[in-house]
Amino acid sequence: MKVKVNKDLCIGCGACQALVEDVFEIQDDGLAGVKVDKVPEDLEEDVKDAIDGCPTQAISDED
Ligand code: SF4
Repeated sequence: MKVKVNKDLCIGCGACQALVEDVFEIQDDGLAGVKVDKVPEDLEEDVKDAIDGCPTQAISDED
């Protein structure tokens, strides 16, 4: 599974990072970014929750 954050939509709320800190991080621009090329299998469910929980639908599943 691969994910991407659309920085034009992200508002930097930090929810994704709080949920899956091994995958998402708030970067120097104040917006979320993805730290990994591929989501580890054991984190996929948490990442799906982050996708569903993002208030601006900024996270997309790239698979
Ligand atoms: S949950 Fe969505 S809006 Fe909030 S920081 Fe993550 S990508 Fe950005």
